Formats: sequence, C-alpha cells, structure tokens
Amino acid sequence: MKKEKTKKQSMHATVMSQFNKTADRMDLNVNIRKILSISNSEIIVHFPVKMDDGSVEVFTGYRVQHNNALGPYKGGLRYHDTVDIDAARALAMWMTWKTSLAGLPFGGAKGGIEIDPRKYSIGELERITRRFTYALGENIGPEHDIPAPDINTNAQTMAWIADTYMSTIPTSERSHNRHIVTGKPLGVGGLEGRDRATGYGVFLSAKLYLENKGERLEDKTFIVQGFGNVGYWASHFLVKEGARLLAVQDAHATLYKKEGIDVEGLAVHSNPRKGSIADYPDAVTIPPEDFFGLECDIIIPAALGNQITAVVAEKIKAPLILEGANGPTDKEGEDILLRNNATIIPDIFCNSGGVISSYFEWLQNRNGELWDLEESMGKLQKKLTENFKRIQREVEEKNIDWRTAAYMLAISRIETAYQQRGIFP
Ligand code: GLU
Repeated sequence: MKKEKTKKQSMHATVMSQFNKTADRMDLNVNIRKILSISNSEIIVHFPVKMDDGSVEVFTGYRVQHNNALGPYKGGLRYHDTVDIDAARALAMWMTWKTSLAGLPFGGAKGGIEIDPRKYSIGELERITRRFTYALGENIGPEHDIPAPDINTNAQTMAWIADTYMSTIPTSERSHNRHIVTGKPLGVGGLEGRDRATGYGVFLSAKLYLENKGERLEDKTFIVQGFGNVGYWASHFLVKEGARLLAVQDAHATLYKKEGIDVEGLAVHSNPRKGSIADYPDAVTIPPEDFFGLECDIIIPAALGNQITAVVAEKIKAPLILEGANGPTDKEGEDILLRNNATIIPDIFCNSGGVISSYFEWLQNRNGELWDLEESMGKLQKKLTENFKRIQREVEEKNIDWRTAAYMLAISRIETAYQQRGIFP
C-alpha cells in the first residue's frame, strides 16, 4: 500500500518536473506559468451502486479539468485501483499538452474510478458506469467536457455513458448530442478507425523517426509493455511492416520469443475481459526484471505511468523509446536515458493518435457525417505526420530532446491564447 502511494504521488511529480523544465527553458510568462501549474476544477464524486448480490457499494470517481483555454476539456476515463486525485491531476495536465501539441480545439481533462474492474460482473460495471455518469451530471457535456476510453474502459463503457447522459437531457436534444463522449461503438456514432488510432500513432512515430535517419522498420526488433488496445495495435502495425516482436510484458507475465511473437495469436489468447497474456503457449516466460534490459531496437511502454525509473533506465540498451502509455518515464529515468543518448518520443505526441481520432469522431457527430475507414485513417496519418515534422524541426533547430521540444510547442500555443484573450475581469 505504501509503495503504491509513492508511485501515485510521483505521477504528478513527473508531469510537474517536465512542465517546470520547459517553462524555465522557454522563459514562460510567469502569470501563465501560475495558471498552468494547477487544475481549473477537480471533481470528486461518491456514489452508491447495487451489486449483483443485493448489497450496496459506494465508489469514488474523479474528473479533473486542467485547462480549457483552447476549447472544451477532453480526455479519458480510467478504471484502475491506482486512480486517485493525484493521478487524475497529472493525467489531465498531460491531456492539455497533448491536445495543444496536436493542434486540436480542446483543453485537457482526465478522470476515472478507483476500482479493479476484474472484480465486477458486466452488469455491475454497467451500473457503476451509469451511476458515475449521473453523478458527474453537468460537469461533462458535448461542448464542455468530453470523456473517452482509457485503461480498462472501452467502446461499451462509452456507449453506457452516452445513453445515460442522453436520458438526463430534454428529449428534443438527445439525437444531436452524441459527441458527449468519443470512442463509442460504430452503431452509436463511433468513428471507423478510432479503435486502432493510438497504436497506429505509436507505429507511425517509429516509422517516421527511422525514415528520417534513413532506416526502415524491416527487421527491427521491439518489446512492448502492456498488451491492451495500445500495445496490441502498435504491435499489429509494426509487425505488418516487418518488425519483430521479441517480448511482451503485462501485470501477470513476461513472454519472450527470439523469432518473434505472433501478435494476432497472442491477441486471441489474451481474453479481453481477463486481459492477460499469461499462459500463452507459443513463447517462453522470462523473469519480469529482465524485460527492459533485453537487447532490442525499440521499447514501447504501453501500460501504466512511472515504469521507467532510474533502476530500469540503467538496464535499457534500446536506442529508441516510444511512449504509448501516459507518463511511463519518471524524471530520474529520463535523465539517465538522455545521458545514454537514447531518444524518447514523448507520450504527448506518441499516443496522440487516440485523441486526434476522438476529435474526428466529435466532428463527425457534430456535423451529422459518417466517415469511412480510409478517410479517418488518411486524415489521422496526415495530421500525425505534420505534427511529427514540427517537433522534429524544433529538436533539430534548438538541439533539445524530443519531450522538451514537444512541450515547448504545446505550451507556447496556450501562452499565445492567454496573451490574446487576457484574463477576466
Ligand atoms: N485516453 C486517451 C489519451 O490518454 C484518449 C483521450 C481522448 O480521446 O479524449 O490520450
């Protein structure tokens, strides 16, 4: 328990150290620095839910709205036992940087419920989600704060939120407010390609980075921590281009296969509800502490925050880290990696495919349109490529690391917005 607490607090410490490093470097306006150092609003709700056995449990849910200078708050909802106010605060701040860097008309928010969803039945999860939505009330809205999936939430969770939200607003307003959440199933206004968007962006980060160095993905080796939506889709696209998946780690097992793990086979094996890669027969199990030190070209942390600490970073031999997760590298870990000349493609760009696609879904619903997969993925590729090139230019011109470059671009866009609009009254 004590260990967990340390971890949770340092998520916020991680994002603050990244922000402060950039603010110093770019000489950020001191007033804007004060504003951005803290969340605009932090909502904590406690709500009762009837369990299958007739008992009542009271749950705690969070929604932190960090900043909305650029548009409505945007960000996912996470169901995990590490969710608390510090985690939500940190993750909301990361969303502000991510949407700004991506050039979207959104601010940043994040939230979730402190639960281990594996302990509940589908019916219980539905009631928990609906009651959470009801408890959030007017704190969310299609033009105000738009949730999306994150760890342990998915299209089904979003469908429940949308349906509950619709039930609470006037009948005549229901059909045109489907953009209350993104990441919905296709049948209720979801976007073709939203499911793979985050993983696709992780893959594209690798491809663009290597191409710029005159290299190709073919025969490159990579390892992935976390085999949820992001880890799976990133692996899927990388393997399609000829890269080899050497190892996968999740909370229950670490798998290794020199010839390359069969991504689709592992996806079929890891039951989405249980969500574990354990007991997969076509790979060997290795000790978890050997994972990050494996000889490979690319490491993709695509699970929880603060996984690459100083101890882990010392072991890393791979020259390229792609942050599929939010905040996977802590400050000490990052210092070591940079000192060892590793490149970290930071989360706020690397996993931004998800929120960019969310923006497309929001537009699709708002405009009453239906995009096909080709249109959706084509636009995603274009936007991610433009954004990548912008960061790359900044890295090369200023001779700085990728995270600092991405942060500088993200924060200066918000700084400009504040300078132009001023502060009420
Ligand atoms: N949860 C995702 C993230 O961390 C997606 C957020 C969204 O689409 O709003 O970026």
